[in-house]
Amino acid sequence: MKKIVTVISIHSCPGEKIGIGKTGGLAVYVKNLINFLIINHYKINLITKNHICCDLNYSDKVNILHIDSLINPGSEIQEIANSTDILISNYWTSGIFSKTFFSKKNILKINISHTLEYLKKIQIPEYKIDIKRIKEEKLLKNYFDYTVYFSKEEKDTLINYYKYTESQLIFSTPGYDEKIFYPLSKSDSRKRLKINSSEKTLLFVGRLDYLKGLDIAIETIKIAIKHNKIYKLFIAGGDFGSTQQQKINLTLANNNISQHVVWLGSLSQKELNLNYNSADIVLVTSRSETFGLVCLEAIATKTPVIASDVGRMGDMIVNNDSGVLISDIQPKSFYDQIDKYFSKKNSFKFKNESLDMIKNFTWENVFNELFSKVKVFD
Ligand SMILES: [Zn+2]
Repeated sequence: MKKIVTVISIHSCPGEKIGIGKTGGLAVYVKNLINFLIINHYKINLITKNHICCDLNYSDKVNILHIDSLINPGSEIQEIANSTDILISNYWTSGIFSKTFFSKKNILKINISHTLEYLKKIQIPEYKIDIKRIKEEKLLKNYFDYTVYFSKEEKDTLINYYKYTESQLIFSTPGYDEKIFYPLSKSDSRKRLKINSSEKTLLFVGRLDYLKGLDIAIETIKIAIKHNKIYKLFIAGGDFGSTQQQKINLTLANNNISQHVVWLGSLSQKELNLNYNSADIVLVTSRSETFGLVCLEAIATKTPVIASDVGRMGDMIVNNDSGVLISDIQPKSFYDQIDKYFSKKNSFKFKNESLDMIKNFTWENVFNELFSKVKVFD
């Protein structure tokens, strides 16, 4: 009989709009994980937080439980816990929840951290760590059978700082869907989006989080203006409508650069593909990443990426062919590379090598490989 898999995602529901508040790559991951489990005919429970406007529609294929309270999640939890064979917990908040409600001995327990608090400190020395979160993250070490990591840096942090042993760890990655992210003609994409063909455009995709570095992208635009170079920065996600976004908008107006920035709000994956394809360059100015999903999606559409050298982006970009890595993560360095591109000193040809580099990252490959490593998963 097929095993019963319970996926926990307390931080965000995969049915929330992506690019708003706390919802980003984690939600994309959970959505694709569930799709994979459906294709492979597992019986699936999804436990997630309650929220407005859920767009999940799995009919009877997934039992979804939106919970209001982490302390009293309702009586159905016990039933689910008793019947679960495999538990897949996403992010540390789900780990704490799992530890409280899933104590049955013969459940195989898998933890996917997605990010580690201490890893941010390693990537950004001035980052103020959340001591409480680190304490709770450390509590998870002996509860889970396996913890999945996405990069060598994350593995080293788990071993050296969180004191995991090698046998507790499994290497995997997030992925991309080649049916959603693929190359389209730039001119057609621009026509559909009503973007002038002569415009020099940059695309930033992400939440308004210091770690994602939108301020670096905006600073890059300012430097360009000083050099009499005019680019337009499109921002997908960006918590459109939030107080924080309005504040940034006001600063842009005060600096007289509003006309160089376009807020796109939360986009569906299909719209995002069109926007990647219409952009001249995708800017990934993150100060910290565990992986770097935007970089992967952009390369899948054959749009050049200028990205911070953090997370796994070095494993996705073929330097000067599909993009450029910026190691000092400074606006001036981003500007220099953008200028090189527009002044035709760097043309990004996307040879086969660049596309081969990302082939292993399709969701199907990623999950097949992950589940083959967890041998009881059949
Ligand atoms: Zn939902």
